[in-house]
This record gives sequence, structure tokens and C-alpha cells, in this order.
Amino acid sequence: MSEPAIKPIETNYKGCRFRSRLEARWAVFFDAAGIEWEYEPEGYDIDGVPYLPDFFLRGQKAYVEIKPRGFYGNNRYDSDVMRELQAKLKKLATGTGCDVFLIEGSPSPRPIDTDSETYPGDDVGVIGFLPGKGVSSARFAECPHCGRVSLMCFGGGISPYDSICPCRGGKPFEDTGYNPFDWSPRLLHAMTKGRQARFEHGEAGAP
Ligand SMILES: [Zn+2]
Repeated sequence: MSEPAIKPIETNYKGCRFRSRLEARWAVFFDAAGIEWEYEPEGYDIDGVPYLPDFFLRGQKAYVEIKPRGFYGNNRYDSDVMRELQAKLKKLATGTGCDVFLIEGSPSPRPIDTDSETYPGDDVGVIGFLPGKGVSSARFAECPHCGRVSLMCFGGGISPYDSICPCRGGKPFEDTGYNPFDWSPRLLHAMTKGRQARFEHGEAGAP
């Protein structure tokens, strides 16, 4: 006799049928942040196993995989589920030449505690897989010059000041006094909108 299955609720938003409400919340966030997104545009065969990344962000040429917080079980750093997923995402990055980001959790207006390895509470965890550059912690940031919101890597030898936005032509941000670890007002608004979005009755995102 099989156990009753617990499955995420499919959610409609902007004409897309999302497999989970969590994914739809991120689509609401992307819209509010001005990030162009496509949902499940392309599947890949990775070592004989079909894999369909959740989002493609055309402006950043990046794939995004969304997972609920704690999907790996009790220990983030000693989990076969996490190890297998990371290996798959690395292969996706290498094989496509695109950046790949793993986002854990819901959009959250809480700023990340950058000193913490565990992303306590509601914080959003993001890991970036950059072909040819390695694996790095990442987060959303708004460019103080052109207003572009993108996923920015930091750590792993990658300076956030080097990776935030192409508008500076690779010039660092140290001289601008900009702190990429602060949420900008736009990011705060977008995170809140994603977090609070209601989808009942075919609503188009946040009230
Ligand atoms: Zn910029």
C-alpha cells in the first residue's frame, strides 16, 4: 500500500502553470524587480537523465533552479540530495555556458546575514555555478548606476564588485561607496511582493 503523496499545488500566474506556488512567487518577484524570465523553456539530458531547469533569465543568460528551504534534509553540507543537485547544476553550467543559480526558499524582505553559513529564518539562500569560474554564494543586487537587478556572486574568489553589472565594463564598485549587501528599495519591494502574492481566483500576483 502506498503512502498518500504530498505534492505542491500547481499555480497559475501570467498565463504560466507553475508546478508550485514557490516558483510562482519567484516569477512575481522577477516581474517586480524588472527581471525578464521564462518558465521551463528548455530541457536537457544530463548523463542520461532528463532535467528541466525552472527558469531562464534572458538578460543575465542564467538558469535558475528553485527549491524549498531545507529540501536536502537536516544537513545542508552532508546531504546526498544536495551533492547530486550541485553536480547536476555544475554540468548544466558547463554544458550550456550559462550561469546557473540554485535558490532555496521564498522571496524574503529580510536581508541576508552574510556572516552566517546557515541562512537562518526566512533568509533566501542562493548558490551560483559559473562556467569556468567555479561555485560561489550569490544574491540579488541592484546596480547603483543603471538600476539593473541581477544575481550577483560573492565569495569563492569572486568579488561582488566585479560581478554585479556589465554597465561598468568590468570596473569595480569600490569607489562608489555602494554596498551590494543592502537591499535597495526596489529589491525590498519586489521581495515583499513575491512573498505576499496571492494566486487564488486567478489573481495576477500581489493585490
Ligand atoms: Zn549597471
